[in-house]
Amino acid sequence: MTVYNFCAGPAMLPPEVMKKAQQEFLDWQGLGVSVMEVSHRSEPFLAMVKECEASLRRLMNISDEFEVLFMHGGGRGQFAAVPLNLFIDGLPGVYVENGIWSKGATDEGKKYLPTHAVDIRCDAEGKFDILPVSAWQLPENAAFVHYCPNETIDGIEIVDVPKHSSAPIVADMSSNILSREINVDDFDLIYAGAQKNIGPSGLCIVIVRKSLLTRPGLVKPAILDYALEAKQGSMYNTPPTFAWYLAAEVFKHLEANGGVKAMAERNAAKAQLLYDYIDSSDFYSNKVASHCRSQMNVPFWLKDDALNATFLAEAQQAGLVALEGHRIVGGMRASIYNAMPLEGVQALVAFMDKFAKEHS
Ligand SMILES: *Cc1c(COP(=O)(O)O)cnc(C)c1O
Repeated sequence: MTVYNFCAGPAMLPPEVMKKAQQEFLDWQGLGVSVMEVSHRSEPFLAMVKECEASLRRLMNISDEFEVLFMHGGGRGQFAAVPLNLFIDGLPGVYVENGIWSKGATDEGKKYLPTHAVDIRCDAEGKFDILPVSAWQLPENAAFVHYCPNETIDGIEIVDVPKHSSAPIVADMSSNILSREINVDDFDLIYAGAQKNIGPSGLCIVIVRKSLLTRPGLVKPAILDYALEAKQGSMYNTPPTFAWYLAAEVFKHLEANGGVKAMAERNAAKAQLLYDYIDSSDFYSNKVASHCRSQMNVPFWLKDDALNATFLAEAQQAGLVALEGHRIVGGMRASIYNAMPLEGVQALVAFMDKFAKEHS
Protein backbone atom coordinates (compact mmCIF):
# COMPACT_ATOMS: atom_id res chain seq x y z
CA MET A 1 0.00 0.00 0.00
CA THR A 2 1.25 3.50 -0.83
CA VAL A 3 1.62 5.56 2.35
CA TYR A 4 1.19 9.32 2.14
CA ASN A 5 2.80 11.22 4.97
CA PHE A 6 1.11 14.53 5.83
CA CYS A 7 3.45 15.38 8.72
CA ALA A 8 4.15 19.09 9.24
CA GLY A 9 7.82 18.48 9.95
CA PRO A 10 10.08 16.64 9.72
CA ALA A 11 8.12 16.01 6.58
CA MET A 12 7.92 13.80 3.54
CA LEU A 13 10.88 13.96 1.15
CA PRO A 14 10.86 13.12 -2.58
CA PRO A 15 10.96 9.30 -2.87
CA GLU A 16 13.45 9.52 -5.76
CA VAL A 17 15.87 11.41 -3.53
CA MET A 18 15.43 8.97 -0.67
CA LYS A 19 16.13 6.04 -3.00
CA LYS A 20 19.28 7.66 -4.35
CA ALA A 21 20.48 8.40 -0.81
CA GLN A 22 19.83 4.77 0.10
CA GLN A 23 21.75 3.49 -2.92
CA GLU A 24 24.83 5.55 -2.13
CA PHE A 25 24.50 5.39 1.64
CA LEU A 26 27.52 3.15 2.20
CA ASP A 27 29.58 4.25 -0.76
CA TRP A 28 29.39 7.90 -1.67
CA GLN A 29 30.99 8.93 -4.97
CA GLY A 30 32.97 5.70 -5.09
CA LEU A 31 34.90 6.63 -1.94
CA GLY A 32 33.92 3.39 -0.20
CA VAL A 33 32.59 5.37 2.76
CA SER A 34 29.33 7.14 3.52
CA VAL A 35 28.86 10.86 3.03
CA MET A 36 28.28 10.83 6.79
CA GLU A 37 31.82 9.61 7.35
CA VAL A 38 33.85 12.11 5.33
CA SER A 39 35.40 15.33 6.52
CA HIS A 40 33.37 18.44 5.83
CA ARG A 41 36.66 19.95 4.64
CA SER A 42 37.44 17.13 2.20
CA GLU A 43 37.52 17.91 -1.50
CA PRO A 44 34.40 15.92 -2.49
CA PHE A 45 32.34 17.41 0.33
CA LEU A 46 33.44 20.95 -0.53
CA ALA A 47 32.55 20.34 -4.17
CA MET A 48 29.14 19.08 -3.09
CA VAL A 49 28.37 22.17 -0.95
CA LYS A 50 29.54 24.50 -3.69
CA GLU A 51 27.14 22.89 -6.14
CA CYS A 52 24.40 22.87 -3.47
CA GLU A 53 24.63 26.63 -3.07
CA ALA A 54 24.79 27.19 -6.84
CA SER A 55 21.70 25.04 -7.27
CA LEU A 56 19.72 26.96 -4.63
CA ARG A 57 20.84 30.23 -6.20
CA ARG A 58 19.52 29.06 -9.58
CA LEU A 59 16.25 27.78 -8.10
CA MET A 60 15.49 31.01 -6.25
CA ASN A 61 17.33 33.39 -8.57
CA ILE A 62 19.49 34.71 -5.72
CA SER A 63 21.80 37.54 -6.76
CA ASP A 64 25.37 38.27 -5.66
CA GLU A 65 23.99 40.87 -3.26
CA PHE A 66 23.16 37.96 -0.98
CA GLU A 67 25.17 35.49 1.05
CA VAL A 68 23.73 31.98 1.41
CA LEU A 69 24.51 30.35 4.75
CA PHE A 70 23.93 26.77 5.86
CA MET A 71 23.52 26.96 9.61
CA HIS A 72 22.60 24.91 12.64
CA GLY A 73 19.73 25.35 15.04
CA GLY A 74 16.63 25.25 12.83
CA GLY A 75 14.07 28.01 12.67
CA ARG A 76 14.23 28.75 16.36
CA GLY A 77 17.99 29.23 16.17
CA GLN A 78 17.22 32.11 13.81
CA PHE A 79 14.66 33.55 16.25
CA ALA A 80 17.80 34.35 18.31
CA ALA A 81 20.26 34.96 15.46
CA VAL A 82 18.14 37.69 13.82
CA PRO A 83 18.03 40.07 16.82
CA LEU A 84 21.61 39.21 17.83
CA ASN A 85 22.95 40.11 14.38
CA LEU A 86 20.60 42.93 13.39
CA PHE A 87 20.41 44.80 16.71
CA ILE A 88 20.83 48.57 16.48
CA ASP A 89 21.05 50.51 19.72
CA GLY A 90 17.89 52.50 20.40
CA LEU A 91 15.74 50.88 17.70
CA PRO A 92 13.08 48.23 18.32
CA GLY A 93 12.85 44.93 16.51
CA VAL A 94 9.47 45.07 14.79
CA TYR A 95 7.59 41.77 14.84
CA VAL A 96 4.51 41.26 12.71
CA GLU A 97 2.27 38.73 14.45
CA ASN A 98 -0.44 36.56 12.97
CA GLY A 99 0.09 33.16 14.48
CA ILE A 100 2.03 30.85 16.73
CA TRP A 101 5.43 30.95 14.99
CA SER A 102 5.54 34.71 14.47
CA LYS A 103 4.67 35.20 18.16
CA GLY A 104 7.39 32.71 19.08
CA ALA A 105 9.89 34.88 17.21
CA THR A 106 8.80 37.92 19.23
CA ASP A 107 9.16 36.05 22.51
CA GLU A 108 12.74 35.11 21.68
CA GLY A 109 13.54 38.60 20.38
CA LYS A 110 12.39 40.17 23.67
CA LYS A 111 15.40 38.62 25.37
CA TYR A 112 17.80 40.70 23.31
CA LEU A 113 16.20 43.99 22.33
CA PRO A 114 13.10 46.13 22.74
CA THR A 115 10.36 44.73 20.53
CA HIS A 116 7.39 46.33 18.84
CA ALA A 117 4.70 43.82 17.95
CA VAL A 118 2.26 44.58 15.14
CA ASP A 119 -0.82 42.38 15.33
CA ILE A 120 -2.25 41.97 11.83
CA ARG A 121 -5.10 39.63 12.72
CA CYS A 122 -8.60 40.90 12.08
CA ASP A 123 -10.72 37.84 12.78
CA ALA A 124 -14.39 38.22 11.99
CA GLU A 125 -17.46 35.99 11.76
CA GLY A 126 -15.65 32.93 13.01
CA LYS A 127 -12.92 33.25 10.35
CA PHE A 128 -9.19 33.65 10.94
CA ASP A 129 -8.29 36.67 8.89
CA ILE A 130 -5.38 39.08 8.49
CA LEU A 131 -4.95 42.63 7.20
CA PRO A 132 -3.49 43.11 3.71
CA VAL A 133 0.20 44.09 3.72
CA SER A 134 -0.66 47.67 2.68
CA ALA A 135 -2.64 48.15 5.92
CA TRP A 136 0.09 47.02 8.31
CA GLN A 137 1.00 49.78 10.77
CA LEU A 138 4.78 49.48 10.76
CA PRO A 139 6.66 52.07 12.85
CA GLU A 140 9.11 54.31 11.01
CA ASN A 141 12.12 53.46 13.16
CA ALA A 142 13.08 49.82 13.38
CA ALA A 143 16.21 47.67 13.49
CA PHE A 144 14.33 45.17 11.29
CA VAL A 145 10.83 44.02 10.41
CA HIS A 146 10.28 40.31 11.01
CA TYR A 147 7.30 38.35 9.71
CA CYS A 148 6.29 34.80 8.91
CA PRO A 149 4.94 34.33 5.35
CA ASN A 150 3.51 30.92 6.19
CA GLU A 151 2.14 30.14 9.63
CA THR A 152 2.56 26.38 9.69
CA ILE A 153 0.18 25.73 12.58
CA ASP A 154 -2.52 28.30 11.85
CA GLY A 155 -2.54 27.59 8.09
CA ILE A 156 -2.18 31.25 7.09
CA GLU A 157 -0.01 32.38 4.17
CA ILE A 158 0.97 35.92 3.19
CA VAL A 159 1.91 36.24 -0.48
CA ASP A 160 2.53 40.00 -0.74
CA VAL A 161 5.80 41.25 0.71
CA PRO A 162 5.81 44.18 3.15
CA LYS A 163 7.96 47.23 2.45
CA HIS A 164 9.75 49.54 4.84
CA SER A 165 11.55 52.81 4.12
CA SER A 166 14.69 51.94 6.11
CA ALA A 167 14.48 48.65 8.00
CA PRO A 168 15.45 45.30 6.51
CA ILE A 169 12.62 42.85 5.85
CA VAL A 170 13.21 39.48 7.52
CA ALA A 171 11.06 36.47 6.61
CA ASP A 172 10.73 33.12 8.37
CA MET A 173 10.03 30.88 5.35
CA SER A 174 10.54 27.62 7.22
CA SER A 175 7.37 26.10 5.81
CA ASN A 176 7.01 27.68 2.37
CA ILE A 177 10.49 28.23 0.95
CA LEU A 178 10.70 26.90 -2.65
CA SER A 179 6.94 26.31 -2.74
CA ARG A 180 6.16 29.29 -4.98
CA GLU A 181 8.12 31.86 -6.95
CA ILE A 182 9.32 34.86 -4.99
CA ASN A 183 11.57 37.81 -5.75
CA VAL A 184 14.45 37.47 -3.30
CA ASP A 185 15.37 41.14 -3.91
CA ASP A 186 12.16 42.13 -2.08
CA PHE A 187 13.72 40.75 1.11
CA ASP A 188 16.86 41.40 3.14
CA LEU A 189 16.99 38.16 5.08
CA ILE A 190 15.17 34.89 4.47
CA TYR A 191 15.60 31.88 6.68
CA ALA A 192 14.13 28.40 6.69
CA GLY A 193 14.62 25.35 8.85
CA ALA A 194 15.17 22.53 6.37
CA GLN A 195 12.83 19.88 7.72
CA LYS A 196 9.65 21.02 5.99
CA ASN A 197 10.35 21.75 2.35
CA ILE A 198 14.06 21.04 1.94
CA GLY A 199 15.47 18.02 3.73
CA PRO A 200 16.13 16.54 7.15
CA SER A 201 16.19 18.57 10.36
CA GLY A 202 19.42 20.01 11.68
CA LEU A 203 20.05 22.42 8.84
CA CYS A 204 18.80 25.96 8.41
CA ILE A 205 19.16 27.98 5.22
CA VAL A 206 19.85 31.70 5.66
CA ILE A 207 19.83 34.05 2.68
CA VAL A 208 21.13 37.40 3.89
CA ARG A 209 21.90 40.65 2.11
CA LYS A 210 25.66 41.18 2.25
CA SER A 211 25.25 44.81 3.34
CA LEU A 212 23.74 43.57 6.63
CA LEU A 213 26.88 41.63 7.54
CA THR A 214 28.67 44.79 8.62
CA ARG A 215 26.22 45.45 11.44
CA PRO A 216 28.01 44.72 14.69
CA GLY A 217 24.81 43.61 16.45
CA LEU A 218 25.17 42.19 19.94
CA VAL A 219 27.66 39.85 21.58
CA LYS A 220 26.58 36.45 20.28
CA PRO A 221 27.55 32.80 20.12
CA ALA A 222 30.00 32.32 17.25
CA ILE A 223 27.76 29.70 15.64
CA LEU A 224 24.97 32.30 15.25
CA ASP A 225 27.23 34.98 13.79
CA TYR A 226 26.29 35.64 10.15
CA ALA A 227 29.49 37.53 9.26
CA LEU A 228 31.67 34.81 10.75
CA GLU A 229 29.72 32.02 9.05
CA ALA A 230 29.91 33.87 5.74
CA LYS A 231 33.67 34.24 6.09
CA GLN A 232 34.06 30.58 7.03
CA GLY A 233 31.84 29.17 4.25
CA SER A 234 29.31 28.01 6.88
CA MET A 235 32.03 25.80 8.37
CA TYR A 236 33.06 27.66 11.49
CA ASN A 237 32.26 24.40 13.23
CA THR A 238 31.23 20.99 11.92
CA PRO A 239 28.04 21.50 9.90
CA PRO A 240 25.16 18.98 9.80
CA THR A 241 26.79 17.19 6.88
CA PHE A 242 24.17 14.56 6.09
CA ALA A 243 21.35 17.11 6.13
CA TRP A 244 23.38 19.37 3.87
CA TYR A 245 24.02 16.52 1.41
CA LEU A 246 20.35 15.58 1.31
CA ALA A 247 19.30 19.20 0.79
CA ALA A 248 21.67 19.30 -2.19
CA GLU A 249 19.98 16.20 -3.60
CA VAL A 250 16.53 17.78 -3.15
CA PHE A 251 17.67 20.93 -4.96
CA LYS A 252 19.03 18.81 -7.82
CA HIS A 253 15.72 16.96 -7.95
CA LEU A 254 13.76 20.23 -8.08
CA GLU A 255 15.94 21.55 -10.89
CA ALA A 256 15.43 18.36 -12.86
CA ASN A 257 11.65 18.63 -12.39
CA GLY A 258 10.84 22.11 -13.60
CA GLY A 259 12.12 24.11 -10.64
CA VAL A 260 10.06 26.31 -8.38
CA LYS A 261 7.65 27.28 -11.15
CA ALA A 262 6.56 23.68 -11.67
CA MET A 263 6.33 23.13 -7.90
CA ALA A 264 4.18 26.25 -7.54
CA GLU A 265 1.74 25.01 -10.18
CA ARG A 266 1.52 21.60 -8.61
CA ASN A 267 1.14 23.09 -5.11
CA ALA A 268 -1.67 25.39 -6.25
CA ALA A 269 -3.54 22.45 -7.78
CA LYS A 270 -3.11 20.33 -4.63
CA ALA A 271 -4.29 23.09 -2.30
CA GLN A 272 -7.25 23.97 -4.49
CA LEU A 273 -8.41 20.37 -4.63
CA LEU A 274 -8.35 20.07 -0.85
CA TYR A 275 -9.87 23.47 -0.01
CA ASP A 276 -12.59 23.09 -2.66
CA TYR A 277 -13.56 19.76 -1.18
CA ILE A 278 -13.59 21.12 2.40
CA ASP A 279 -15.68 24.14 1.33
CA SER A 280 -18.15 21.94 -0.51
CA SER A 281 -18.67 19.73 2.54
CA ASP A 282 -20.73 20.47 5.63
CA PHE A 283 -18.86 17.74 7.51
CA TYR A 284 -15.45 19.49 7.38
CA SER A 285 -14.45 23.12 7.78
CA ASN A 286 -11.39 25.33 7.40
CA LYS A 287 -11.61 28.58 9.34
CA VAL A 288 -9.06 30.68 7.45
CA ALA A 289 -10.29 33.53 5.20
CA SER A 290 -9.85 32.41 1.61
CA HIS A 291 -7.39 35.17 0.57
CA CYS A 292 -4.77 34.04 3.12
CA ARG A 293 -5.10 30.27 3.15
CA SER A 294 -1.82 28.38 3.21
CA GLN A 295 -0.88 26.32 0.18
CA MET A 296 1.38 24.16 2.35
CA ASN A 297 -0.49 23.49 5.60
CA VAL A 298 -4.24 22.91 5.54
CA PRO A 299 -5.86 22.69 8.97
CA PHE A 300 -9.40 21.35 9.00
CA TRP A 301 -11.96 20.36 11.56
CA LEU A 302 -14.57 17.63 11.62
CA LYS A 303 -18.04 18.84 12.56
CA ASP A 304 -17.90 16.60 15.64
CA ASP A 305 -14.60 16.43 17.55
CA ALA A 306 -15.73 13.13 19.07
CA LEU A 307 -15.00 11.53 15.68
CA ASN A 308 -11.35 12.71 15.59
CA ALA A 309 -9.83 9.52 16.98
CA THR A 310 -11.84 7.33 14.57
CA PHE A 311 -10.91 9.57 11.66
CA LEU A 312 -7.20 9.33 12.46
CA ALA A 313 -7.29 5.56 12.99
CA GLU A 314 -9.17 4.88 9.73
CA ALA A 315 -6.97 7.32 7.80
CA GLN A 316 -3.89 5.48 9.03
CA GLN A 317 -5.37 2.19 7.85
CA ALA A 318 -5.90 3.79 4.45
CA GLY A 319 -2.22 4.79 4.31
CA LEU A 320 -2.81 8.46 5.15
CA VAL A 321 -0.59 9.23 8.12
CA ALA A 322 0.25 12.14 10.45
CA LEU A 323 -2.99 14.07 9.94
CA GLU A 324 -3.48 15.05 13.57
CA GLY A 325 -3.64 18.83 14.05
CA HIS A 326 -1.14 20.66 16.21
CA ARG A 327 -2.00 20.22 19.89
CA ILE A 328 -2.53 23.98 20.30
CA VAL A 329 -5.27 24.27 17.67
CA GLY A 330 -6.67 20.73 17.58
CA GLY A 331 -8.55 19.24 14.65
CA MET A 332 -6.63 17.91 11.66
CA ARG A 333 -3.86 19.29 9.50
CA ALA A 334 -2.67 18.10 6.11
CA SER A 335 0.80 19.40 5.28
CA ILE A 336 1.22 19.19 1.52
CA TYR A 337 4.77 20.37 0.86
CA ASN A 338 6.60 20.07 -2.47
CA ALA A 339 7.25 16.35 -2.01
CA MET A 340 3.54 15.46 -1.70
CA PRO A 341 2.22 14.35 -5.10
CA LEU A 342 -1.24 15.30 -6.34
CA GLU A 343 -2.18 11.63 -5.96
CA GLY A 344 -1.66 11.95 -2.19
CA VAL A 345 -4.16 14.78 -1.96
CA GLN A 346 -6.58 12.91 -4.22
CA ALA A 347 -6.35 9.91 -1.91
CA LEU A 348 -6.96 12.13 1.12
CA VAL A 349 -10.02 13.77 -0.42
CA ALA A 350 -11.46 10.39 -1.43
CA PHE A 351 -10.94 9.11 2.10
CA MET A 352 -12.46 12.23 3.68
CA ASP A 353 -15.51 11.93 1.44
CA LYS A 354 -16.02 8.27 2.27
CA PHE A 355 -15.59 8.99 6.00
CA ALA A 356 -18.09 11.86 5.90
CA LYS A 357 -20.71 9.68 4.17
CA GLU A 358 -20.25 6.91 6.71
CA HIS A 359 -20.51 9.21 9.71
CA SER A 360 -23.11 11.80 8.69
C1 LIG B 1 8.79 24.61 12.21
C2 LIG B 1 8.90 26.08 12.22
C3 LIG B 1 9.82 26.77 13.03
C4 LIG B 1 10.70 26.06 14.03
O1 LIG B 1 11.66 25.32 13.45
P1 LIG B 1 12.69 24.47 14.33
O2 LIG B 1 13.60 23.99 13.27
O3 LIG B 1 11.94 23.42 15.05
O4 LIG B 1 13.37 25.41 15.27
C5 LIG B 1 9.88 28.13 12.93
N1 LIG B 1 9.08 28.81 12.10
C6 LIG B 1 8.18 28.19 11.31
C7 LIG B 1 7.32 28.99 10.40
C8 LIG B 1 8.06 26.82 11.35
O5 LIG B 1 7.16 26.20 10.57
